[in-house]
Order: sequence, then structure tokens, then C-alpha cells
Amino acid sequence: SGKWARAMAILKEFEDKCGTPIGKLRQVADAMTVEMHAGLASEGGSKLKMLISYVDNLPTGNEQGLFYALDLGGTNFRVLRVQLGGKENGVVSQEFEEVSIPPHLMIGSPEALFDYIAAALAKFVATEGEGSHPYPGRQRELGFTFSFPVRQTSISSGTLIKWTKGFSIEDAVGEDVVAELTKAMEKIGLHMRVTALVNDTIGTLAGGRFYDSDVIAAVILGTGTNAAYVERAQAIPKWHGPLPKSGEMVINMEWGNFRSSHLPLTEYDQALDSDSLNPGEQIFEKIISGMYLGEVVRRVLLKMAEEASFFGDNVPPKLRTPFILRTPDMSAMHHDTSSDLKVVGNKLRDILEISNTTLKMRKVVVELCDIVATRGARLSAAGIVGILKKLGRDGAKEGAEQQKSVIALDGGLFEHYKKFSACMESTLKELIGEEVAQNIVIKHSNDGSGIGAALLAASHSEYL
Ligand code: ADP
Ligand code: MG
Repeated sequence: SGKWARAMAILKEFEDKCGTPIGKLRQVADAMTVEMHAGLASEGGSKLKMLISYVDNLPTGNEQGLFYALDLGGTNFRVLRVQLGGKENGVVSQEFEEVSIPPHLMIGSPEALFDYIAAALAKFVATEGEGSHPYPGRQRELGFTFSFPVRQTSISSGTLIKWTKGFSIEDAVGEDVVAELTKAMEKIGLHMRVTALVNDTIGTLAGGRFYDSDVIAAVILGTGTNAAYVERAQAIPKWHGPLPKSGEMVINMEWGNFRSSHLPLTEYDQALDSDSLNPGEQIFEKIISGMYLGEVVRRVLLKMAEEASFFGDNVPPKLRTPFILRTPDMSAMHHDTSSDLKVVGNKLRDILEISNTTLKMRKVVVELCDIVATRGARLSAAGIVGILKKLGRDGAKEGAEQQKSVIALDGGLFEHYKKFSACMESTLKELIGEEVAQNIVIKHSNDGSGIGAALLAASHSEYL
């Protein structure tokens, strides 16, 4: 019928606009490299902030003692306790607890958020067992993974630049997040020193490096997305401090904020952006990360319902609810292998209250998930190639020595959305070629953000 044809036309146009042919991906990778240079050259020189992390010594594996970590950066936060046994014994034990953040605290006051976190941390510290106490006379030390853009002022202090991923607590912007946390801990008599402030990406890099010295970068694909990598200190023109002994400095790219005229953006992305809490910002993140993929799918389905009666004469009311279709549900539909696409049918019924879908309609929904996930995965791969190019590790240089480069990947999207991660890895090979690809390893660095922060707390301990 005419309506079906109209719906297919909407889908087709969306697919065309989302296209990521290899030539376009190369342009994106090149743009990423160019922006990296610009962001390193001067403060505000690029949409890519290329923040200096003050981490100039990544863990070596020799670290020893009891350390805590706090991981805040999504809908949950986690508290961790790690016992490190030095070169011989590595990570002797680790325990963690996950606590969800009530939505009202994500948009309330800084005090309310940090009081809540400090209370959960105190409760966790109270469960310290025999043999897992700090050395007598020493304060407990904590690595704080705070996964929002921060301007570091030292390894253990930094001010919040802006919130992302659904958080919006205006009074915290411009404040030192370590001071806020410390204040909340002191209020309840929890004596703990924050010795490292990092984000999840740097934590993942540190965690990856602890086990494998070939790790040179880390990428997070979770609720949001970001990348960090090890740069030569001399290649950072905007760094005016003393050159670190190691000669290296970890750079927090904040690549979620990358944007380029080469990015395939559609009317749906534009509308998602202008309706978001941070319009005009985090454009790369909004087409790649877990917070948004399902939402893009919802917006296209809504258009098909409104303009082509895709789900019948009435637009299903639930389809109008922003963020109702979450990326894990999209992923479940995308991976549906049943012959009648039962999972798709159930998700449409349970989440969107759309019943009686035909197999033909379900196939269209799967196709739509594929378009959105493929675009995100291929662009993520292009971003990684941008980093490899910046480091001269993409094999482009004639006669360049072929070192192994390991990229630590973490985040729920990468971990659970198999079609996404598989597409990302195959696109990476496509971009750099089979031969060079033999020296590039994508390594799932599970829970790097938590343990990495504890490792950095150790390598920056007051008692060293
Ligand atoms: P965060 O990024 O909030 O620190 P995670 O790294 O655990 O947390 O990532 C969680 C995100 O990963 C979710 O917001 C969701 O977008 C995505 N995710 C989780 N499970 C799945 C899944 N099964 N399929 C696709 N995406 C998932
Ligand atoms: Mg995380």
C-alpha cells in the first residue's frame, strides 16, 4: 500500500543519511587527528578538550597495600576495595558494591548528591574484614573516578566543566569535585584521602596498563563515550609545567564532544540534540553511545508512525515518550534470532504497547536498529584510527617500526551489544588493513574504571 511505501521511504532516507562508506570514515579519522593536534596546541583550540590528566606515571604492577575507589559517572556508582600485593601477587583481592543513584539526585544540589555518595562509602568501609585494614596510623586512600569533563588542577583536584549523560546540577559546575566529596565525608566522620581524581577512561587505561604494558589508549563505550591515550609530554604545546620524568602524559580527550562536518547527522539527531539537556554539545556521543542509540530508533519509528501510519491509524502514545526505548532493549531486538522475531514483538508490546505487529513490520524494526548501531560502531572505529594516526601507529608511515598497540575497551555498550562491538572491530580492520591490524589489539578491560582508580590511588599514595 501507499502507507507502507511511505514508511519504507522514510527508512531508506534515514539509511542513506546514516551512511558510513570507508571514504567518509577516513575523513572522520583524519578530522579526529586534526582536532587532537588543535586541542593539544591551545586551551579551547578545539571542540576536543584534550584535557591534561596529571597522570604521568601509569601503574607498573609493583603497587602494594589497601586502596579504595569510587566510580561515579552513570546511573550507578560503585565503591571498591582492593588489596594489592606488589609484583609477585598483583591484585590479591577486590570487593565492590554497586549503588543506583535516585534520579532526583542527578538534578538536585551538589550537597545532596555527595552526601548520598559519602554515606554509601561509609557503609562499605564499615564492612572491612580482618586483614583488610590500612596500616596503623595511615589514612585510607581513595581513587575517585568521576566520569564527567573536569579541568584538573593536580592529580587530586579538579573543577567540573559541565555535566553530561543526564546529570544537571548547576551549582556544582566550576567547583572542585574532590573538595565537595571530602566535605561530605568529613561531615559524617569518614576519614579518607582522595589521592587521585580520574575519569573512567583514564581508570581503564591505568587498569589495562597494570596487566599489559602495550596498552596505549582506552575507549569507553557505555552510557556515554570517551577516549584517553598516552601522549609524549613534548607533543603537548599547551603544557607549560615541568616535563614529567616519564616523558609521558595521559590525555583525556573528551571525544564525546567531537564534531565534524563529515559526521553523518540526520534530522533525528538534530532534534534529539536540541531537545537534550546539552544542545550543541557531545555530538559524537549522541550518535554513538548507549544513552542515545535507542532514542534515535524511537524517533525514527515515531516519524514512521506519524507520517506513514506504520503502526496503524493511531500513533502509539508510548512512542512519544523520550528515552522510553533503551539501548539494551534495542540490542535485544537487534539480536533476535527467532524465526518470527518474537523478542521484537514482545519488546514492542511491553515497552511501546504496540501489539499485533506483523513479521514484516518487525523486520523493519530490526533493520532500523541495524542502521543506528552500525553507524555508531563504524564511527567509533574511525575515532580509534584517529588516535592511532596521531601516534603514528596506524601503519601509514613508510618503514615505521611495527610495535604492538593495545586499546583497552570498556563500557556496557561494548560489553553487551555484540553486533556493535563486532562491527566496530571489523571496521577497524577495514580501515587499517589486515597487515597492520595484526599489531592492533582491542582488549576488553573489564571494570578498569574501578580498579584503575584504586591503582592510581596507589601510585600516587601520600605514603610512598
Ligand atoms: P556507565 O557508562 O553508566 O558507567 P556501563 O559502562 O555499565 O555504565 O554502561 C551502561 C550502558 O551500557 C547503559 O546505559 C546502556 O546504554 C549500555 N548497555 C548495557 N547493557 C546493554 C545491552 N545489553 N545492550 C546494549 N547496550 C547495553
Ligand atoms: Mg562506567
